Amino acid sequence: MIHRHDVIIVGAGLAGSRAAVEIGQTANVAVLSKVYPSRSHSGAAQGGVAASLANESKTDRWEYHMYDTVKGSDYLGDQDAIELMVREAPETVIEMEHWGCPFSRTPEGLIAQRKFGGHTLDYGKEAALRSCYSYDYTGHVLLHTLHEQCLKHGVHFYSEFQVLSLIFRDNRAIGVVAWDIVNGGLHTFYGRAVMFGTGGYGRAFKITSNAHANTGDGLSQVIRAGLPVQDMEFVQFHPTGLWKSGILVTEGARGEGGYLLNGEKRRFMEDYAPTLMELAPRDVVARSMQTEIDEGRGIDGKNYVFIDVSHLGEAKLKERLPQITELAMNFAGVDPVKEPIPIQPTAHYSMGGIPANANCRVTYDAKRSETVGFYAGGECSCISVHGANRLGTNSLLEALLFGRRAGKQIVEDLSHLEFPELPADYEDAATEEVERTMAKDGEEKAATLRAELQETMMMDCGVFRSRGQLEKQRDKVEELEERYKNIRVEDKGTRFNTDMLEAIELGHLIEFSGAIVEGALQREESRGGHARKDFPKRDDVKFLKHTLAWREPNGKWKLTFEKDVVLKGITHPGFEPKERVY
Ligand SMILES: Cc1cc2nc3c(=O)[nH]c(=O)nc-3n(C[C@H](O)[C@H](O)[C@H](O)COP(=O)(O)OP(=O)(O)OC[C@H]3O[C@@H](n4cnc5c(N)ncnc54)[C@H](O)[C@@H]3O)c2cc1C
Repeated sequence: MIHRHDVIIVGAGLAGSRAAVEIGQTANVAVLSKVYPSRSHSGAAQGGVAASLANESKTDRWEYHMYDTVKGSDYLGDQDAIELMVREAPETVIEMEHWGCPFSRTPEGLIAQRKFGGHTLDYGKEAALRSCYSYDYTGHVLLHTLHEQCLKHGVHFYSEFQVLSLIFRDNRAIGVVAWDIVNGGLHTFYGRAVMFGTGGYGRAFKITSNAHANTGDGLSQVIRAGLPVQDMEFVQFHPTGLWKSGILVTEGARGEGGYLLNGEKRRFMEDYAPTLMELAPRDVVARSMQTEIDEGRGIDGKNYVFIDVSHLGEAKLKERLPQITELAMNFAGVDPVKEPIPIQPTAHYSMGGIPANANCRVTYDAKRSETVGFYAGGECSCISVHGANRLGTNSLLEALLFGRRAGKQIVEDLSHLEFPELPADYEDAATEEVERTMAKDGEEKAATLRAELQETMMMDCGVFRSRGQLEKQRDKVEELEERYKNIRVEDKGTRFNTDMLEAIELGHLIEFSGAIVEGALQREESRGGHARKDFPKRDDVKFLKHTLAWREPNGKWKLTFEKDVVLKGITHPGFEPKERVY
């Protein structure tokens, strides 16, 4: 079946939904999502969304937010895009308030704001209250507010449609081909513009805070269309994931006074960050924890340490950290009022993604040449506002703000974008993928291959990396790709065939994991979320560059370090890009 709309958006998280609100007011827009829209991972965000509203920290300014973001990115963020983001943040949040988003309030009735790691006043002098929040359900309320606005503006939702391929010809995005999860069968959607808001790729790792749907499908489809992906080696590991499941224990737990203990029952952060202790930046805490675990000082020598919040007392835990109290009980079997919670670093946020400029147009080379009719925003994109490491609360902002910018740009571009012709072979790639997957009758199980991929990515391409580990992991990914050809899909039906769809997702995971490993291997430095044991220092001379990775027809990865970082704007004397701050 063929569907025609002015604009096709893949993804109903904050990025896709926000763009749809903008476009729905003047054009015919369709949003496809493989999960029900309000189940997108955006809804799991707890902490908040950053904007220098100065409701609580009265002297806050966008310049401080910009400085923090550039510094947090370990100088790899493009400063033109960062400047746009921090300048437009207040109006983006206030617009959500005007649409009815129930933010928590100050006593005077303004949007309440709280502290978050790395956000400061006066260029690093003191902590800023910059994160706008709604209890610990910020993502949930933002997503629901946007969904209401989408309905108001007549956005067409295609829920539980899983996109399998991007139709991209002669530098132009034409549409996508999707599988109807409920009824089975392929549907083609084409339009004058296509936007991807497909979210992050944390599911490539065994321990992750990400939802099951975050399998980086959009990235693999872009790679298969012959386009590059950018900075894929940068994955943020959040220090406090529940042991085994990786479910997030919010940074707020440490903010409220929770502390970390190793197997010797010692607050080991005093060895790594004696001043900031547990409130050191996320990547520093994650690396400290991993070092303790690797050197045998985990609890009982195992791969976890403790976060202890029991001294805060039952009343405070109930009031301030109700969600994590419940999560610890349900998923780790411990009552945080009485005992410490077992935790380990968890893959949390994907800094890399589809290269795009600040107007969300997808670009395809080091000169930032633009594709036509193709846009990306939110976590799947690499614009790049987070560079090598993202600050907490900057990604809900990114998704909202660049969703908004993408929407505005698309509306403007529709004035000259005509409906493209569907090429004769528009459905071939998806048909071939479904037929190939359904016919699979081999000996390998998708679940086994996925577990092997996730386990080895965690071990050899995780918090710490080294040449030996990465070369081993490159071979592993190649081996898994070979074995993937020989998997068996048991369910041969059409309705809710999760067996087939998960096998297809596994193909995506394997595909883009190759880019993560290759980037990590060739980036011989440590920066932000990427820590090489054999190259522990940042190397600005060689690597103050974005990575672009293409898959060649022979399956090998081609990488360049030719894309310059945009450095501009910050004139504060304390700002010195050559100096590592952490
Ligand atoms: C547990 C957790 C807590 C977080 N807390 C915070 C926080 O407090 N503050 C903050 O700033 N950030 C936080 N983040 C990060 C932030 O939530 C995300 O970066 C952001 O919400 C991503 O939004 P998005 O619109 O890009 O993608 P998502 O919300 O992930 O949505 C992706 C969409 O793409 C769709 N999709 C994907 N593939 C396909 C396909 N093949 N076919 C059809 N549809 C597809 C999905 O169905 C979904 O609708 C948190 C993340 C996690 C995991």
